Amino acid sequence: MKILFKIVIAWKNDNYGKVYYKKDNKSLMYEEFVEGVYAIYRRIGGRFMVTYAIIEKFSVILIDPSAYTKDYIDEFLKLKKLDFKDIKAVIVTHGHPEHWSYAHKFAKKGVPVYVPESEVFDDPKKFPEIYGFYEKMPKPLKEKKNLTHGMKIKIGDGVLAIYYCGGHSFDHFFAVHTKSGILFCGSMLLEFPESPYKFLIDKSGDPEQRKKFFEAIVNLSLSGIAPAHGMPVLKNWLEVVRDAYNAQKSLQNEILYVLEKEKEVTPREIDEELRRRIDYIWSPEERTKYNYLTIEAFLRSFETKGLVEKQGKKWIYKG
Ligand SMILES: [Zn+2]
Repeated sequence: MKILFKIVIAWKNDNYGKVYYKKDNKSLMYEEFVEGVYAIYRRIGGRFMVTYAIIEKFSVILIDPSAYTKDYIDEFLKLKKLDFKDIKAVIVTHGHPEHWSYAHKFAKKGVPVYVPESEVFDDPKKFPEIYGFYEKMPKPLKEKKNLTHGMKIKIGDGVLAIYYCGGHSFDHFFAVHTKSGILFCGSMLLEFPESPYKFLIDKSGDPEQRKKFFEAIVNLSLSGIAPAHGMPVLKNWLEVVRDAYNAQKSLQNEILYVLEKEKEVTPREIDEELRRRIDYIWSPEERTKYNYLTIEAFLRSFETKGLVEKQGKKWIYKG
């Protein structure tokens, strides 16, 4: 647990998740961050990844079970003296593979696995076509149930309330554990906690939907947020939401500014111009393609408002 201690310190010093552990860690790391709610930390494909477990009276709900090689969730269950049959449900927040790469193991054992409606679970090969970029894909998920907005999944005396949000990816859901007040937000917040910048990635999602998500969650009575790529945030969670909201707004304004100035641009040109205008990058250098995808998501939302029109590779400003 030495490294976990370091993360906690880094997190406390940096407010939330600016720094996190850099090395692959072979041993299981987890913490009970509020009573009955556990965060299990892993590093997968160079990314920090958290699976959450709600445990109440020998019932378990798992959220975003991700792993490609190591059966670390089995290890966690064993430590907690729990069995596969104690798992009442597995929840997958969205179709990106690192959030469900371990789900088939549970489905095979008869555990109900709840996923958003997306063809990718039946046919992982369709991933680039559906989500616009390439990722290493898990096996198809044959047995599954669909998540629906307003669904409530019982756990002990509490309930896990399911909401559709559709930012980040078109199929994104989030869940609130009513008893603890924890919101499981998948990749909607703190997708790159190591980045000091708060910009958000909307790979196939709708930025307008993301705005609605921010507005909706500040009205829920929450005690914290539990992101899939960052440490849970308890007392400062509103600050995280406010930063994200401002980042979203400033990115939208910057893109509009470039459109007004240039009149005809490609997402790549917008990205280049943004880098010149604002002296930082907003997703890690090796993930520039996420910038283009996010810019495109904004352009599509401008298109529905009649502000731009696509002609070939160029986007034409009509505002
Ligand atoms: Zn994602």
